[in-house]
Amino acid sequence: MDPITQEIINSPSIEIINFTIATASGSADSLIMSSSPAGSSASSPTTLSRYENQKRRDWNTFGQYLSNHRPPLALSRCSGAHVLEFLRYLDQFGKTKVHTQLCPFFGHPKPPAPCLCPLRQAWGSLDALVGRLRAAYEENGGKPETNPFGARAVRLYLREVRDSQSKARGISYEKKKRKKPALKPPALPPPS
Ligand SMILES: [Zn+2]
Repeated sequence: MDPITQEIINSPSIEIINFTIATASGSADSLIMSSSPAGSSASSPTTLSRYENQKRRDWNTFGQYLSNHRPPLALSRCSGAHVLEFLRYLDQFGKTKVHTQLCPFFGHPKPPAPCLCPLRQAWGSLDALVGRLRAAYEENGGKPETNPFGARAVRLYLREVRDSQSKARGISYEKKKRKKPALKPPALPPPS
């Protein structure tokens, strides 16, 4: 831990106490944000703080998962395989319909009727989650070279989920290669 962080933890200032998302690890982000003048109570949440909050919630969820794991699993012994186990476990809370190949709506982005296909975590959610947990792991003292969220198996799994969900849901996850803001359709004429 660097001395600055240590100092913040040992002597929390009023600003940091008032700062609701200040983390115990005193990240650089919270340092920047806590430098806003004291007394400005109307601090609206920013995109950054939402991300930080979400990251902390995800990290807690993962910690919960580890402590409920049978046999018990220490973070230091966590591998990519355990991360995959965790991601599959999360599927039961998913809200994204992923059609099986037997479903008549396989490949339909907008099925005209309900079906019995399972709900899963959408690839985009898993991908973002893994990114946040990967960062949280290192912020909580994990070494980058042993980061299970960066394991090859996890990357391959995410790619597989992306491809299979793309086919099943009839959705392309390809990034738009070229953005041409200049070619936007002209604005509608103002109402007369
Ligand atoms: Zn279906």
